[in-house]
Amino acid sequence: MNHQFKKKYGQNFLKDENLLKKIVHSANIHGERVIEIGPGAGALTKHLVTVASEIIAFEIDESLKEHLNKLTETHQHLNVIYKDILEVNLDEFENPYHVIGNIPYHITTPIIFKLSEAKNIKSITLMMQEEVGNRISASPNTKEYNALSVILQHQYHIEKIVKVHRKMFYPIPNVDSVVLKFTPKREADIEFIQFVKACFKQKRKTLANNLYDQRNIPKETTYDILKTLGLSVNSRAEALNLHNFIDIAKSFKK
Ligand code: SAM
Repeated sequence: MNHQFKKKYGQNFLKDENLLKKIVHSANIHGERVIEIGPGAGALTKHLVTVASEIIAFEIDESLKEHLNKLTETHQHLNVIYKDILEVNLDEFENPYHVIGNIPYHITTPIIFKLSEAKNIKSITLMMQEEVGNRISASPNTKEYNALSVILQHQYHIEKIVKVHRKMFYPIPNVDSVVLKFTPKREADIEFIQFVKACFKQKRKTLANNLYDQRNIPKETTYDILKTLGLSVNSRAEALNLHNFIDIAKSFKK
């Protein structure tokens, strides 16, 4: 392929047609709208045009125009916008849509947090570094468990679609990947998201200390809530499960 790969944009392209078909198939798109993140040279896009009614693809690298133009010229329902996805205001998309992307490793977390706060999303199917996938699906008391695990498990059904060996990409990255599919269970709860982030701010600190530092909540108030819920006053966020977080957040609201 005639393209100067740019490391700074996390450009590791896919080539295996069976894998590409599997990813698009798992997104379960039937004549619906899709936002694609990082189309690259159009590996996923060329499959998406066969199942979606409309595709808006955001690509940061204008030098890929030459490749993507071949697809836009033949598919009227594909629109490529050369823009950083993190700068896009997703609230402008009022009709429900699916999101799909083989996204750059270095901005996986900000992209996922951005999507978690957006409205009207039917499903999100994303390729990511396996380690991030493990964090998202992690259970309490493991080293992978963090704010991302709690926030995403609260908001979505999370399905592992396929593990992808690094050799499936070119150039070959130095990590393996996984495709996860997120189906919303509920609307984004921004207050809950901010609360969980504050609880995990410094992983080694107790919940009471983090909430005091981040929110100025008197430690006694946190201790009382934890005691009422039958939890240790010295609890750390990493030891609490999703239901504990929901109960604690509710108690603070009262
Ligand atoms: N979808 C293609 C594939 O599967 O072969 C390319 C995947 S590659 C991992 C990620 C793509 O995202 C690259 O084309 C890169 O230029 C693009 N990209 C990187 N940062 C971006 C950003 N902030 N906004 C939109 N696209 C971005």
